[in-house]
Amino acid sequence: MTLSDDTSHVHPPKRSAEPFQAMAMAVERASTVVFDDLESFERRIDRLYDGFSYGLYGTPTSRQLEDHIAKLEGGSRALVVPSGMAAITLATMTACRGGERVLIPETLYGPARDMVGRFLAQLGIEATLYNPRLDGGIAELIDRRTRLVWVESPGSATFEVQDVPQVVTAAHEAGALVAADNTWASHLYFKPLARGVDMSMQALSKHAGGHGDLLMGSVAVHDEALFRRLKDTARFLGYGVSPEDCALCERGLMTMPVRMRHAEATAREVMSWLSRRSEVAQILHPSVATHPGHAVWKRDFTGSAGVFSLVLRPDLAETQSEVLRHFRLFRLGASWGGVHSLIAVSDPRKGRTGLGWLRPGPVWRLSIGLEALDDLLADLSQAFELFAESRQDGTAMADTST
Ligand SMILES: *Cc1c(COP(=O)(O)O)cnc(C)c1O
Repeated sequence: MTLSDDTSHVHPPKRSAEPFQAMAMAVERASTVVFDDLESFERRIDRLYDGFSYGLYGTPTSRQLEDHIAKLEGGSRALVVPSGMAAITLATMTACRGGERVLIPETLYGPARDMVGRFLAQLGIEATLYNPRLDGGIAELIDRRTRLVWVESPGSATFEVQDVPQVVTAAHEAGALVAADNTWASHLYFKPLARGVDMSMQALSKHAGGHGDLLMGSVAVHDEALFRRLKDTARFLGYGVSPEDCALCERGLMTMPVRMRHAEATAREVMSWLSRRSEVAQILHPSVATHPGHAVWKRDFTGSAGVFSLVLRPDLAETQSEVLRHFRLFRLGASWGGVHSLIAVSDPRKGRTGLGWLRPGPVWRLSIGLEALDDLLADLSQAFELFAESRQDGTAMADTST
């Protein structure tokens, strides 16, 4: 058939099907997927869980990333969704309906705690907060309506480590599922599915993306029926990820172990430097022997992320904003696990009961990036000088002495 000029604009000539054997992930874009006959078209929804029916439900690029995540998590199946938050919503809405209950640790990622407690409450899903150090004691909180127990280990901001196998035993005895937010350790340092967790979730925006420029989340499972329920929920919520983002994430995964081990080693030195400073009252990281989660972390994890918190002496609360302005490499910002070092300031005491072990004072979370150790220490050192200077002025001390 001879094509007119207009038609030729939308039908480029076909190239031969000779395979192009690159090692990088191919980016294949589509909303429309076409079919060779009516029967395949009419039965396209059969391809929801495998194969291709419509761009939103999976492309070769997103399926390939999902297979990779499933393998790294030690599961049979995984789904990728537009953010870590989307992954938490997906797992919770798949496990719970109106009238049912979800247990969430006080240490759950703050925005997710809000989402479950406020947004899902509108759908009649009841959320109950629990102290992350309950471990097996959680059995008493699980009633017949409880369908899901979330764990986040270590927890946001304060890094309590949960005894995940004990929580799993208690939940499964009562017929509830367990979902783990495994963003901090990632699949590299902790494998929730191997410990009996039903849904292993991570914000790929952090270590996997690794450069502060990608938003994505994943949920991995080892149960085909649960995977299909998750996929149905994702379809109804209209979750889809762009193939460009999938390829970026895949590229991040390739260097993730090297980046994580490097940040881990640098973080150890930074924590050691900080622990010798009089301004620092406490370091919160499970590798620290006095941290409440240390023993369980040592038992269950094969490494640690370069993300930790420090508690400043309470009398430094007044000067902290001035000091934060003086960092040159560490920038003030949310998220973590990227190549740039970051500081985030939070108040973990809000809405939490199990914090008797935490010293008083402002809490900073540091995410160690890939800058040279000496440069990071120099940056901390010059910024911390301001704490000392303001004390000599007498301003900070005078303000807080009452
Ligand atoms: C960042 C984060 C999330 C959310 O991930 P987004 O991709 O930013 O939505 C969830 N859980 C934890 C522990 C996180 O740190």
